[in-house]
Amino acid sequence: MNNKQGDEMYDVAIIGGGPAGLNAALVLGRSRRRVVVIDEELPRNAVTRESHGFLTRDGITPTEFRRIAKEQILKYPSVTFQPDIVKSVTGKDGDFQLQLAGSEVAVQSRKLLFAMGLKDVLPDINGISEVYGTSAFVCPFCDGWELRDKQISVIGLNDLSLHLLKLLSGWTQKLTLLTDGSAVLSPDQRSEIHLHGIPIIEDKIEHIESSQGDVKRIIFHSAPPVECEGIFFSPTLIQSTDIPKKMGCVVSSNGHHVMKIDTDLMGRTNVSGVYAAGDASGVPFQLIAAASSGATTAAAIQLDLLDAEWNSVQER
Ligand SMILES: Cc1cc2nc3c(=O)[nH]c(=O)nc-3n(C[C@H](O)[C@H](O)[C@H](O)COP(=O)(O)OP(=O)(O)OC[C@H]3O[C@@H](n4cnc5c(N)ncnc54)[C@H](O)[C@@H]3O)c2cc1C
Repeated sequence: MNNKQGDEMYDVAIIGGGPAGLNAALVLGRSRRRVVVIDEELPRNAVTRESHGFLTRDGITPTEFRRIAKEQILKYPSVTFQPDIVKSVTGKDGDFQLQLAGSEVAVQSRKLLFAMGLKDVLPDINGISEVYGTSAFVCPFCDGWELRDKQISVIGLNDLSLHLLKLLSGWTQKLTLLTDGSAVLSPDQRSEIHLHGIPIIEDKIEHIESSQGDVKRIIFHSAPPVECEGIFFSPTLIQSTDIPKKMGCVVSSNGHHVMKIDTDLMGRTNVSGVYAAGDASGVPFQLIAAASSGATTAAAIQLDLLDAEWNSVQER
């Protein structure tokens, strides 16, 4: 490893500055811990116009959310922000070294928190990236209200199609299931969908027509086009880096196309001194849940640091 090492030993290095990492930084800063937040600044919801469902912040843009969070956290002088990408981590509990993409100087910390979110794998459909986050969404709780009573196409490419249709029926009755010619529906699922009067189009999708992020029509290989005002789908979610796995953390599937870092209820992984919070640890995929798990995990980190410090005091 050719990285030089910085002089400062942080108590905690947090990888990721989304709501999970930011709330952890807030709690740890208030606990008088020296904290560094290293953030690539590419949150999952960066593509959206507004975020919903976070008490006191409903409708805020992702950028404004982070700006306010940083302003409040920086009141605590022991917290530092470093925009960069963590490439690898070496060391062990009490002495981790983080190698960064943009610096020769490794960051050193006693504890490590993975809060680097997840990455959505979009379906391989022409035009989906143009509407993703503006009129194609993944979470009805986040974006269902804005599309209430509208004509929605559900692109169902995996076993969550039926679940997603059922969820969306809370917001609109105007649903169509598109399988892109590939999804397999069991006879029972098919009859359940028919029972609810939801049309199924099984033709291959040619492309999604849109204007300035708003979906207009879905064009098929041979079936007639479908007009719609919104799209929902259940993406595959993968870890944004393989660092946790390389360090020996258990990374497992939640059984629904999501790879998450396994933790206990307080965010501790199986590797001593390593914690995970937010989307990366598979908590319900919402800003407030990520922030909450960041706060809980920060408390666990503070307790573990205090334990070590308390127990290191020898009787004279
Ligand atoms: C389209 C869409 C719309 C959504 N809308 C809403 C909504 O309205 N309301 C709601 O509650 N939730 C919404 N969500 C879910 C919400 O975005 C996530 O649950 C939340 O962002 C998770 O927070 P996090 O802190 O775990 O991760 P993130 O917010 O994703 O933050 C992780 C950070 O870590 C950084 N990072 C990753 N790897 C590295 C690395 N190696 N080194 C340094 N930094 C790294 C990333 O760049 C990013 O800045 C939406 C999600 C999507 C996809």
